[in-house]
Amino acid sequence: MKMRVKEINVKSALTYSESKRRYTLSPYVGCTNACVYCYASDYARRYREMIWKSEIIVKRNIAEVLRKDIIKKKPHHVFMSTMCDPYQPIEKEYKLTRRCLEVFLEFPLLEIEVMILTKSTLVLRDLDLFKKMRRISVGLSVTTDDDEIRKMFEPNSSSIEERVEALKVLKENGIRTCVFISPMLPMNPKKLASMLKPHVDCVFIDDMHYRWRVKDFYEKLGFSWALENEYFERTRKELLAFFQE
Ligand code: SF4
Repeated sequence: MKMRVKEINVKSALTYSESKRRYTLSPYVGCTNACVYCYASDYARRYREMIWKSEIIVKRNIAEVLRKDIIKKKPHHVFMSTMCDPYQPIEKEYKLTRRCLEVFLEFPLLEIEVMILTKSTLVLRDLDLFKKMRRISVGLSVTTDDDEIRKMFEPNSSSIEERVEALKVLKENGIRTCVFISPMLPMNPKKLASMLKPHVDCVFIDDMHYRWRVKDFYEKLGFSWALENEYFERTRKELLAFFQE
């Protein structure tokens, strides 16, 4: 499907999340990774006119606005991103995520903790900036060990092997790395944990939110068992045990 790109100017860059007690920063609204379970559109209600999955909104002045927001709001913790993958393919062209990181580097005394979450190896492009940041964590979402499963659920993202390799490179370069096993897709937990364990400093595990949205998709693939509570509980326990071994 061809993606329509719309450029806009925004008045604010940082959004405070009461529940998470942190700010979020999304240079784009919309995401071409096209994960079947994506619920990022829930965070984008103010962009009601947007056709989710066929349109991407580019916040072209986000870096300039971020600079003003940092001075005004003095954030402690910023998460990138909730309404997109900050390293989805369009970032190659616009470099808004990179420009935002450069703005954070203008404020070393504020010691802002930045956490990034992506499914893309484009994140390695900004290794030079991460190395200059004092409080940075880079998270890769790795939801299964099986790249055939990844292709079904996250068709336009980097392969599992590439994501694990990205974590390895980041860690070797002294960057704090996290893996988000969220949602837990069908997997071999032992294999996944052994692939990731040497390369991550922290692990987040979560089951599938809004299961009703993906129920039909799972059924069609014959994976209904992997949407049951029993599957999530067992897999979580196994992952934790393998990571703690
Ligand atoms: S990477 Fe995140 S924001 Fe993008 S489609 Fe997947 S779940 Fe949605």
